[in-house]
Parts: sequence; C-alpha cells; structure tokens
Amino acid sequence: MKIPFVTFKPLEKDLDKRLRDAFDRVYNRSWYIEGEEDKNFEKIFANYCETKYAVGCGNGLDSLMLSLKALGIGVGDEVIVPSNTYIATALAVTYTGATPIFVEPDIRTFNIDPLKIEEKINEKTKAIIPVHLYGQACDMDPIMSLADKYKLKVVEDCAQAHGATYKGRKIGSFGNAAGFSFYPGKNLGALGDAGAIITNNKEIANKVRALGNYGSDYKYHHIYKGHNSRLDELQAAFLTAKLPFLDKVNLNRRETANKYLNGINNPNVILPFVPYYTEPVWHIFGVRIKTNEEKNGKIKLGVGRNSLEKWLNDNGIGTNKHYPIPIHLQKCYENMRFHKGDFPIAEEISATELSLPLYYGMTDEEIKFVIDKINEWNPEEK
Ligand SMILES: *Cc1c(COP(=O)(O)O)cnc(C)c1O
Repeated sequence: MKIPFVTFKPLEKDLDKRLRDAFDRVYNRSWYIEGEEDKNFEKIFANYCETKYAVGCGNGLDSLMLSLKALGIGVGDEVIVPSNTYIATALAVTYTGATPIFVEPDIRTFNIDPLKIEEKINEKTKAIIPVHLYGQACDMDPIMSLADKYKLKVVEDCAQAHGATYKGRKIGSFGNAAGFSFYPGKNLGALGDAGAIITNNKEIANKVRALGNYGSDYKYHHIYKGHNSRLDELQAAFLTAKLPFLDKVNLNRRETANKYLNGINNPNVILPFVPYYTEPVWHIFGVRIKTNEEKNGKIKLGVGRNSLEKWLNDNGIGTNKHYPIPIHLQKCYENMRFHKGDFPIAEEISATELSLPLYYGMTDEEIKFVIDKINEWNPEEK
C-alpha cells in the first residue's frame, strides 16, 4: 500500500463543478481584483469565525505583517513569538522593522508556554503572536491576562487552525486581530496563495485593508506607505465554494486523529497531547520519538525519529517534519547570533517530531496500515 503524506481528494462530488462555476462567474464578469467575490468571501468568513470583520489579503505571512503594522508595531519594538513555529511568524515581525523575541513551547502541546512569556517582557515589548500550531489552540486565558497587564497587542496566527476552538469559542477573536493563510495545503485552502485578517475592531479592519492596498483608503489617495496584498477575485470565489465544507473536513480530520490516538501503542512513540480547553482541527498530527542514542552520557537527539521515518517511508508511508530546523538556527536569522542550545525545547521538537499522513478522506484501511506499521516498529532493530 502507498500512503502519501498529503493528497487532495475531492471533498464532495459537486465541488469540482462548484469550482468551475466559480471560475466562470469571475471570468465572465472580467473583474479580477477588489470586487464582489472578495466582499462576499470576507462576509461569510467573518461570519464563520464569529468576528465582525474579515479582510482578504495575499497570503498568511502578509495577514500577520499587515495586522502588526495596523497595530502600530515597527522599528525598535519587540514582539513575542514561539520558538517552535513556521518561519512566517517571525518574518512577519521582521518585516515591520520590529524584533521577534522567541519563547519556548510546552513540549506536550508544541504551543507557546504561557509561563515563559513574562520573563521576556520589557519596555520595548509591544505584542505577542500566539500560534495555534498544528491546529490546536494555545492556552489563551493566561496569554490575554499578560497582554492586559502589560498593555500588549495580541495577533493570533491561525494559519493552521481554521475552525479550532478554545474553551468552546473559535480561535481568532481573542486578540486584537488574527491572521489566516489559505495556502492550498491548509485546512481551508485556495487554488493558489491567499490569506485574510479577522478582527472585531473597525479601525483595525480599515487600516489593514488600506495597508494591503497601497496604503490607500480612497483611489489615488495614499495615507500609508502600503503594500500590494489583496485577495484576488478568483481565489475568493474558490474559497467561497470550499468554505461550506470546512467543518466537514475538520470533523473528518478529527476522526482520523482519534483513530491514531486510540490505535498507536508503540511505547517508543509519544502521542500529541490534547489539553481539555481545545478542540483541535489537526492540520498536522505530530508524534515524538522517545528513543535517542546515548553515548558517553551524551544524548544524541533524532536517532529514533529518523529510524521511524525510514521505516515508514520504506513501507510506502509518507511523512514530514515540522520543523526540521528551528527558526533561531536558520541562516536568515544568523544576525541574531543564536546558538545551538539557546532554545532546547524547540530544538528537541525539531529533532524528535514526525508528522504522520493526515488528509481528508483517508480510508480506514489506510489509517490501520499506518497504525500497524508504527506499532510494528522496533527502534532496536537496525
Ligand atoms: C502557512 C503558515 C503561515 C504563512 O502562510 P502563507 O500563506 O504561506 O504565507 C504563517 N504561519 C503559520 C503557522 C503557517 O503554518
């Protein structure tokens, strides 16, 4: 059996037709930027997220960067971000001119550890970006209390968590603004690049929209040095066709994740931990591997993970790593002069995490095959 890490199976028999209709609608109207489709998608997406406003933009990175800029973050400011996240979270901060300050995750949830935030706050700190990583909500209550106490802005990175909840409430409405990505592989994906910002604050919504449209609030009047980052009509129309299936997709992912959680019982494999406060949407199902090689009292990370990876790949099962190099050790951030050992939890996750196949419409047979192969894996056998 061959099981890819991810594949795009048709969501619904008529989705193909819905997407072609969406294309025809836009093409026949010959209006490609800033039109009805964008307006309509913003309305239904805000409604889905239970917020007042949604503003389309070019991609997830821009949704975060534009939100930060709209909140006045810039040169000289510091913004707290998790040390374990996709590079876009940190780059969004860098592009405003501010500095990303890394905070370690809780190794059980992979998400930012609220207990480690306060020690990084100083007079330059202006904002926190909690990332609801792998589709699971961060612990928002303690994060919001800290934001309150120190008058910090909060921009949620929801790029992996469309529809996830925290204590029963959809993520994205806790902070001042939240950014989404509709990269094709995300739980809600366009047929290209796309993104959106959601907020309950009208001024922020207006400013974010202007910033993504050359800083213009009225044609040829430029009040900010803005960017070109808009949600085009075709992507908005495709997203409109797909949004009604998002809950179904998330439910299906949740069922598959639960089968993994109940079926995987290899004692060398650490399953993802789901705290009581979140209903995850499982953008990624990441396990960690306990077994590491110990030589002369020194632990070598990653040996067990790489062995499981090879075993699964040899058995035709696709896997992935999120993320193989933590941000503080990426070449592009060399200037920040971090070293190995500076963020040991992020480093441990990047050396021990393995992402299992998880996509809409995985069959029971496929799921069982993955579970069986993981349970059969013996790290001692070379
Ligand atoms: C995908 C992703 C982004 C960036 O989204 P793009 O649309 O690729 O720009 C930001 N943050 C996280 C956590 C992501 O997974």
